[in-house]
Order: sequence, then C-alpha cells, then structure tokens
Amino acid sequence: MTHHLPEHLMGAADLHVHSAPDIAERRYDDLDLAREAARSGLSALLLKSHQGSTVERAYLVSRMVPGIRLFGGLVLNDPVGGFNVAAVRVALQLGAREIWMPTKSARNHLLHHHGEDASSGLTIFDSSGAIRADVAQILSAMVGSECILATGHLSPEEGSALIRFGHSLGLRRFLVTHPEWSVTFYSESLQRELAALGAMFEPRTAAAIRRWRPLRTRSRMWASTRPSSPPTWASPTHRRRWRASSSMPNTSARRVSRASRSGRWRSKTRCGCWVWSTLEDWRPF
Ligand SMILES: [Zn+2]
Repeated sequence: MTHHLPEHLMGAADLHVHSAPDIAERRYDDLDLAREAARSGLSALLLKSHQGSTVERAYLVSRMVPGIRLFGGLVLNDPVGGFNVAAVRVALQLGAREIWMPTKSARNHLLHHHGEDASSGLTIFDSSGAIRADVAQILSAMVGSECILATGHLSPEEGSALIRFGHSLGLRRFLVTHPEWSVTFYSESLQRELAALGAMFEPRTAAAIRRWRPLRTRSRMWASTRPSSPPTWASPTHRRRWRASSSMPNTSARRVSRASRSGRWRSKTRCGCWVWSTLEDWRPF
C-alpha cells in the first residue's frame, strides 16, 4: 500500500535516504524505494550509503523509474579511504550532489558509540589543530560545483570549522547533518552563526514522523511543518499516537530534557515538537 504524502509535502525532495544494497538491513532497495517515493508524491531522492558512492546507482535507477529524479553522493568513510581526494574528484565528475564528511568512521562517532579512544577514527584536524591538507583539497575540489558539503558525524567543533573554511574558499552549499542529535549537537546560536554562512540544517524528523504514521521513505524532509491534525488517511492507531505525541514524553524528549538541563537547549519540549520547531526555524526554502 502506498502512503501518499500530505499536500504540503507533495513534490518534496528527500535528501537523505538509505536503501539497499547496503551492509545494514534496509527496508527498500533503490528500485523499490524510487517507485514507492514516486507513487507517494516525492519529486526527488538523494541516496546515501555509509559505504561510499551512490552516484552510479542513482543514475541507473533514475533511468528506470519515471516520475522521480534520483541523485547520489559520496560518504568519506573508511571503505573509500576516508578523506580520499581522488574519490571525491571522480564522484564530482560523475555528478555527485553531496559529499558527506565521515559518518561511521568519524572519530566523533566512534567516541560516542563505542567509547573508543581518541586516537581512532577520522577527524578533519591535524595534530596541530588545523584542518588537514587532504580535507582542504577535497573542499577545493568542490569549489565551482553544485555539490552540497555535509558535515556527517563530525563533532560540532569540526563541522563549524569545516563550514567556515569552506566558506572562505567560496563554497556556499553546506548541510549540517542532524544538528539536534546528541552526538552532533549544534546549539541554536551556533546554528544561527553557520546559517549566516549559507549552512542549512537537516534534523532527524524520522523518529517524530514515525510516531504518527509509517513513513515509508524514512524521510528527513527539507520543507516540513507539523500539520495541525493527522492526515485523513491515518489509521486509528496513528491518530491515537498523533494525539498522544503532543503530551507524552518519549526518548527524544528525554534526550532534549537532558540537553536542556546541561544548558545546550533552552526550552524543555516534548515529544517530537522540538524537531518540528527546529524545522520551522530553519526551513531552507
Ligand atoms: Zn544517514
């Protein structure tokens, strides 16, 4: 069964979708995802894989599925050699629309998830605290392209240094990957500062959306606000969840509460609303 998007999301582009083939289990492969997304009303998808490039896959699936455009990019994790300038150049030549800094291979990610020591994983800084030469080369290679530079799972300190440096080179398309996540948390003031340099923000709305309907494309929507009522086609269960979601704390809310106690987040919000308000504040278009 196809889940049609609510009217205000018709024609939206989802810039962050994981699909098979992938070493993690995914609900859809590229082809089924594209067909389902086209039926549901999305106009474009940008495929992401922690293992490397999705550019080639996106090109072929775009040819095969009418009614939707697919784009790909490159994630700079260990499988592609980390900060691999040659891989970035090839991806750009093939039409990559997003280059992600390391995600699962990022030092920041490993520290948070596996408690690994600070010497493991990729960081954009060299031993003196400056931006690594290969990272600088990657950013230089992107100058003049239409490609988005995404912060991946770098720490906010790294991500903001990256954007400032990229901006000084002339880059303008920055996307901060899930700025509300505890691992990659950007304070509101830091978001405002980076927004002034052209950065846009990609909060993880999937968790909030899943509370009230099974969003089959696992979207992190670009342009999205929480509607005042559940969509007409929502099942009774999802309607119940929708109503409950404005009053019942969940894990996200607890995490935000923790952040708020630690002074990183000003208002104590509940259950998903914080994600929506972040989206409203930072709606990119
Ligand atoms: Zn992702």
